[in-house]
Amino acid sequence: MACDYIALANPGVQKISPYQPGKPIEELERELGITDIIKLASNENPLGCSPRVLVAIESGMSELALYPDGNGFVLKKALSDFYQRPIEEITLGNGSNDILELTARAFLGAGDEAIYAQHSFAVYPLVVQAVGATGITVPARNWGHDLVAMAAAITPKTRVIFIANPNNPTGTWVEKDELDTFFRAVPENVLVVLDEAYGEFVEAADFPDGLDYLSRYPNIIVSRTFSKAYGLAALRVGYAFAHPDVTNVLNRVRQPFNVNALGLRAAVAALGDQSFVARVRTLNTDGMRQISEGVVALGLDFIPSRGNFLCIDLKRPGLPVYEALLRQGVIVRPVTSYGLPDFLRVTIGTRAENERFLAALKAVLSS
Ligand SMILES: *Cc1c(COP(=O)(O)O)cnc(C)c1O
Repeated sequence: MACDYIALANPGVQKISPYQPGKPIEELERELGITDIIKLASNENPLGCSPRVLVAIESGMSELALYPDGNGFVLKKALSDFYQRPIEEITLGNGSNDILELTARAFLGAGDEAIYAQHSFAVYPLVVQAVGATGITVPARNWGHDLVAMAAAITPKTRVIFIANPNNPTGTWVEKDELDTFFRAVPENVLVVLDEAYGEFVEAADFPDGLDYLSRYPNIIVSRTFSKAYGLAALRVGYAFAHPDVTNVLNRVRQPFNVNALGLRAAVAALGDQSFVARVRTLNTDGMRQISEGVVALGLDFIPSRGNFLCIDLKRPGLPVYEALLRQGVIVRPVTSYGLPDFLRVTIGTRAENERFLAALKAVLSS
């Protein structure tokens, strides 16, 4: 009999339940033998990415044998210019998931505590457990972050707090005045990761911008990504802005070549095409209205969202509805593992995809 390798793993790692990604289209094609499948399960960009990205990638094809620039200078310079912030504040990540992991590896160990909210991003507990630290889940208020309760959960052992704004999978957000009060309450030796993976989708002018807080507080890591609004999920490029001393620490645990050469080129080109991002935002806002109105017409409810996805309250167990939607060729995301068994999360797609989803949902609910 094989040795018990799970028992050999670090105690934190033993407790990890692996991240469950959205079902790939190819897998469903194989399982059901159907084609014409739409995937609205992973908050991917229905418009793809800017055409400028493809040109940039092609120009990098002749250099695949070379290591990428380990400092990612060209992308950092572009981000620095775009956001008007010093280059010393930037850390690049292999996706922003990498930023979350670097933060945990650099600032958390056994005996330390990290705080995150109920119904928040599944990767937070993963990276915390992997380094043997203790995760503290603070109950949600109206499905979102209860920042008053999260500040009250800080103990002398707290090192890191994770806040997703907007949050995934619920789409909820925290307002500026809530964040103001929160940051005043957090001691300087506690790092706050402000995960703004969906920031580009937000249209509200009064929405808090993590970079504004970074000017006032040194203990903030603002994490962003090219995976969502820029449509580069396959290439894995994320970044963080933080105080230069915090950035220095993050870069000590970063792999030397953590962002690949094509990803670096693609991200520079994507950042340079803000008209693409504007089109994405408009499509998302329109689609959000379309799906919200559609689910209400079906007698269902939803959690108001500022992301590119919507959590629908089916008022019945979500898993059977998810399975039935799969048979209709529509992949959405069950959120039972997030403590939301009666909900499904759907990514906002194109107008036609949203229509197809609503028709499939109607068919499934009436059968
Ligand atoms: C999708 C997502 C990310 C981005 O992940 P990448 O590694 O950049 O692809 C980060 N945080 C949240 C909350 C997300 O939903």
